[in-house]
Amino acid sequence: MRQVQLKGIDCRNFINGQYVEAAEDRKFLNINPATEEVIGWVAEATQDEVDFAVKAAKAAVKGEWSTYTVKQRSQIIRKIGDLILENLEQFAMLEALDTGKPYALAMEMDIKRAAHNFHFFADYVTSLGNEAYNQDNIALHYTVTRPVGVVAMINPWNLPLLLLTWKLAPCLAAGSTAVMKPAELTPMTATMLAEICKQAGVPNGVVNVVHGFGKDSAGAYLSEHPLVDAITFTGETRTGTTIMKAAAPTLKKVSFELGGKNPAIIFADSDIDEVVETTLHSSFRNQGQVCLCASRIYVERSIMDEFLQKFVARTEELVVGDPFDANTNIGAVIGKEHYEKVMRYIEIAREEGGTILTGGKRPAHMEKGYFIEPTIVVGLDENSRCVKEEIFGPVVTVWPFDSEEEVIGYANDTTYGLGATIWTNDLRRAHRVAGQIESGIVWVNTWYLRDLRTPFGGMKQSGIGREGGAHSFEFYCEQSNVTIKL
Ligand code: NAD
Repeated sequence: MRQVQLKGIDCRNFINGQYVEAAEDRKFLNINPATEEVIGWVAEATQDEVDFAVKAAKAAVKGEWSTYTVKQRSQIIRKIGDLILENLEQFAMLEALDTGKPYALAMEMDIKRAAHNFHFFADYVTSLGNEAYNQDNIALHYTVTRPVGVVAMINPWNLPLLLLTWKLAPCLAAGSTAVMKPAELTPMTATMLAEICKQAGVPNGVVNVVHGFGKDSAGAYLSEHPLVDAITFTGETRTGTTIMKAAAPTLKKVSFELGGKNPAIIFADSDIDEVVETTLHSSFRNQGQVCLCASRIYVERSIMDEFLQKFVARTEELVVGDPFDANTNIGAVIGKEHYEKVMRYIEIAREEGGTILTGGKRPAHMEKGYFIEPTIVVGLDENSRCVKEEIFGPVVTVWPFDSEEEVIGYANDTTYGLGATIWTNDLRRAHRVAGQIESGIVWVNTWYLRDLRTPFGGMKQSGIGREGGAHSFEFYCEQSNVTIKL
């Protein structure tokens, strides 16, 4: 299935159109979580390098880039998408090496969708007009849209290229410029993307990549830099609050996509086999490390036994193993620290009186790497830590319910509000329940089905703002209203 050589790349910072040589004492090692082997090094950007990248991006907002027509920008953005597809296998290989996720999943979910993000915004930007209002022939008002300026993009490790391109494509469409900071654990595809952008014709300074960590490193330097106009951040809720504080003194515009503890609500009238198949994905795709994974599953009591029997049986058929084996469904989690965190939650589930129906340990056949069996826990009440806190791994809890009102209460009893899934064939109930769930995204009889025009984001502590189509575009723009007295 794979025709590329399995080999990581060293990750230099990319500033003002070129890779910057790294000092020896700034290099840290990049580890493949599936093998625990070193796959390259990463150059941690100094504060001066971050400053240099931000200043290059600032100059580029008003430079050659500002003279490009919408059509020219659209062509460049499309070309980036095309080049990602031309290098599909290489990108997927780097993503799988960096994250431990199955190569086949990287190909389909991460890289093809990353290319699609560019193709979508290449089309989208050419279809835009401006608002205009004639005020009773007294005045004509019209809106002028201009780039917001330099956007810092701070990214997580779970869907590295996909989430980064979800920010970069609309940013370029709007004529803004970017300083991207990939997660320290997954720097490779962002590094490769920088080169692709250059090949596609992006002028120097428009796209920059700086590597490093959060605190006292590139993440913090970007968050507080006075010349950064806006920050788009995807990651943990706690990190979001830190970034917000750092951005407050210079009142940067922010867009936050944060954590979740998403419910799946399964009513007795749903098609149980379809529910089980989709719930396998919503529970364990990407080792459960998708912000939209449904980790709290509520099942109407009359079908609880049947659901559990089928769900456990199908979960036990999932193959955990080498990400580059075509039969693998579940790869490694992102790294040692995260592995220990998820394992600790499994211990907590036992301590809190939960029963592990399947999983709960590392697979016996995997000697190396951070592998965890997909795990189903029952018997934990609403207040247990495993039900309240985001685990972000292949662990779900299942709990029965008796009434619609009761389950809506469970679903909303969380500080998060990102995604929810409802399974029912009762049309009225579907609408009724969907309207009461406090969640930015509600799926009925499906999961992870996206149309890039729709608003994507979280309520409560799952985020600030929305991404997607016009929602994304607006973030990367400033608008001025011009009033002409007639
Ligand atoms: P994280 O918050 O630990 O790190 C994300 C990024 O922030 C990294 O690049 C990191 O270096 C940087 N960072 C950390 N501390 C910082 C600081 N003080 N200042 C500036 N930058 C800092 O998150 P993670 O562990 O990489 O990702 C997992 C989390 O992301 C989960 O909570 C998950 O739900 C969330 N997530 C949300 C969405 C969504 O769309 N809502 C999508 C994917 C992931």
